[in-house]
Amino acid sequence: MPLANVHYPTYYETLKKMLALYHDKIELKLGLEFGMQAHTIEKYEKLFARFPFDFIILSVHEVEDKEFWTQDFQRGRTQKEYNERYYEELLYLVENYHNYSVLGHMDLITRYDKAGTYSLKKLKPILTKILKTVIADGKGIEVNTSSYRYGLSDLTPSRDILKLYWEFRN
Ligand SMILES: [Zn+2]
Repeated sequence: MPLANVHYPTYYETLKKMLALYHDKIELKLGLEFGMQAHTIEKYEKLFARFPFDFIILSVHEVEDKEFWTQDFQRGRTQKEYNERYYEELLYLVENYHNYSVLGHMDLITRYDKAGTYSLKKLKPILTKILKTVIADGKGIEVNTSSYRYGLSDLTPSRDILKLYWEFRN
């Protein structure tokens, strides 16, 4: 049979099947990572409305449709500019989008920052706003451990950001 005619069950179809089989044995949840941008909020609101999600990670992988890992986003900007612009996008999202559980890999931009880690002191005002908005909204933050795979010296977000989060939580 040609590949195009094969029906691959979707994630949701598979989960429903597994729920029917195992619901009395294990707890199964429906979750996704939403890679969002300010201008895609509406698209994700529609996706969220279609399925009974239990858990959503809100993440930013690109800004102005420009990817970080390719350096398309950073190109033509100073380190200060691309760091500030990234966190402005995060702030906009947490202020304007609420159907999520945790904010994903909050300092992802650091992973692709060829100039090194940007000053936490300079970012503290915007990080504070983001974290306080997340906490006030009853959400959490994800500790992404892929930093081990990437050989980075810190977690994503960094331990300093985790400490800030903990400070505001208490
Ligand atoms: Zn991600």
